[in-house]
Amino acid sequence: MPVALVTGAAGQDGSYLVERLLADGYAVHALVRPGSAPREEPPEDPSAALNHHQVDVTDHARLGRLIDEIEPDEIYNLAGVSSVAQSWAAPVLTAEVSGVAPVALLDRALRLQRRVGRPVRVVQAGSAEVFGQPSTAPQDEMTPLRPLSPYGVAKAMAHQAVEVFRCQGLFAVSAILYNHESPRRPATFVTRKITSAVAQIAETGAGHLALGNLAARRDWGWAPDYVDALIRAARHTEAADYVVATGRAHSVEDFVRAAFAHVGIDKWRAHVTIDPALFRPADPAVLVGNASKARAAIGWRPSVDFEGIVARMVDHDRELLRRP
Ligand code: GDP
Repeated sequence: MPVALVTGAAGQDGSYLVERLLADGYAVHALVRPGSAPREEPPEDPSAALNHHQVDVTDHARLGRLIDEIEPDEIYNLAGVSSVAQSWAAPVLTAEVSGVAPVALLDRALRLQRRVGRPVRVVQAGSAEVFGQPSTAPQDEMTPLRPLSPYGVAKAMAHQAVEVFRCQGLFAVSAILYNHESPRRPATFVTRKITSAVAQIAETGAGHLALGNLAARRDWGWAPDYVDALIRAARHTEAADYVVATGRAHSVEDFVRAAFAHVGIDKWRAHVTIDPALFRPADPAVLVGNASKARAAIGWRPSVDFEGIVARMVDHDRELLRRP
């Protein structure tokens, strides 16, 4: 039975990834931050090989011992300060969790690979935030890194470290993930904030949505598709870096309009106010990715389009409100 280690297992991507790996017949070691509950209900099959560990990724000694003990075939590093907004509130913690911890993990994985004499496949979940304010669109694997937030800086460090360790012979992948959403997104992200407010308004007739920059544009994809890209990259014959994106950017306003349209409301402006406090100190204007390399090398393509993502998220939030 192949063994996988997943950090950040309680998050949106981590939870989808753990489900996929279990379905693929892996023994899964799911790391969650001490104090944070594992998201998943226990798997239906009680024999499913899922082990939870409460380990902080900044506890390098402990994480290293765990890696030595379980000798994983695949390591997915999804732990991190999960939002750009949060990273402005905690820049040092962000650097430690999303920048330094990946270096420690890569170092340990390389040592393990040398000791066991077989590839230890490490996939680092990167972010389009490494591009900051890019001078070209769409961005690809050759676009220069110019991060503009503490989050982007930490992710850029991890991305560069992957290459450094790959040069030493480690099977290490950096997946430059553009925004990817699902009903498991917390409402700190604008998409879920919008869909939960729209669901509330549709179900109760009451409610209100306060937003910041409506003109900001993002390349929004469907989170389970991005998890699929991570798995494909891990199991490919060669380790490489990939941009994972839909190639289409939409504005926050497009998202709002689509969410209201999905519940039959055309006059959405009556429900929305702009709060200057919700604007970012620096906000990448257009992030849109070119995933041609992922398409060609690992056969990846997105399966859900923008309208589909909005509809699934709104429907899920309406369903939550209808539950007794
Ligand atoms: P990010 O791309 O990882 O920062 O994802 P977010 O969903 O947090 O933000 C996406 C974009 O939405 C950013 O450009 C924000 O400036 C913009 N935005 C506008 N209003 C809001 C809001 O109320 N909350 C959040 N989180 N973002 C907002």
